[in-house]
Amino acid sequence: LTEPLGGSDVAGGTRTTARREGGNWILNGAKRWIGNATFSDWVVIYARDLEDNQVKGFLVDTSLSGYSATKIENKIALRTVENADIVLDNVVVSDDFHLKGANSFRDTNKVLKVTRLSVGWQAVGQQLAAFDVARRYAVERQQFGRPIASFQLVQQQLVQILGNAMSSMGMMVRLAQLEDAGTAKDEQSAMAKAFTTARMRESVAAGRNILGGNGIVADYEMAKIFSDAEAIYTYEGTQEMNTLVTGRAITGISAFV
Ligand SMILES: Cc1cc2nc3c(=O)[nH]c(=O)nc-3n(C[C@H](O)[C@H](O)[C@H](O)COP(=O)(O)OP(=O)(O)OC[C@H]3O[C@@H](n4cnc5c(N)ncnc54)[C@H](O)[C@@H]3O)c2cc1C
Repeated sequence: LTEPLGGSDVAGGTRTTARREGGNWILNGAKRWIGNATFSDWVVIYARDLEDNQVKGFLVDTSLSGYSATKIENKIALRTVENADIVLDNVVVSDDFHLKGANSFRDTNKVLKVTRLSVGWQAVGQQLAAFDVARRYAVERQQFGRPIASFQLVQQQLVQILGNAMSSMGMMVRLAQLEDAGTAKDEQSAMAKAFTTARMRESVAAGRNILGGNGIVADYEMAKIFSDAEAIYTYEGTQEMNTLVTGRAITGISAFV
């Protein structure tokens, strides 16, 4: 979905185009940040149909002529995931590979509703990991002749992490129940993504702090948890975008522009 020039505003501003030609579609444009697209055999590309201006979905064989993907180097977060810059230069895709249920951005939102849910759970996982690592370290690490876990200010930070994690988990469990019942709304996913990732950012910062200097050394697990949180905070709609989706739902007023 994301493009070099279209991130938060990609809904109304998809620049990649799809032109119908007989039984085929001709795709042109560029995508950015696409997860694992460097080695995948297939990618889903969203492109604006030049005829009706709607964003449609296509399953694209990455061996097709005109398709190229380049790995984004030097990421500081989620380093095991390869993200790609994709270029589509007159890529010919058979209409058989136009995803028949993906015919507008409203359809794309159905995907985002569910992927945002999964990111909320990632935020829960990050916080539980931060709690485990920080608590273990605090019990073992000695300063002033005592474990740092014996200091009230350190305990306060551990409790903050656990409280954040539990409130995030509680929200995600409730949302999962609503999703199961078929009543979950887009804005509930958006609010959960915004809320849980904000709590996650507080939690991993506290966890990083509890490890002191070792918290910024990659040999200790906390630095990875801390860095990965930054990507999770941004993808599937930034904090601001998901807040604005929720704000529009509760006021009836769009504040995107
Ligand atoms: C590790 C990683 C993996 C990703 N994987 C994928 C993937 O597989 N597929 C995919 O399609 N995308 C993927 N993305 C892209 C991701 O969804 C975008 O990075 C995200 O939507 C933000 O877009 P942007 O980076 O272009 O930032 P921008 O949209 O340029 O935003 C920059 C800043 O401006 C703020 N901002 C923008 N507009 C407003 C406004 N109206 N009001 C207030 N603030 C605003 C944003 O909130 C943000 O803080 C991935 C990103 C990362 C980092």
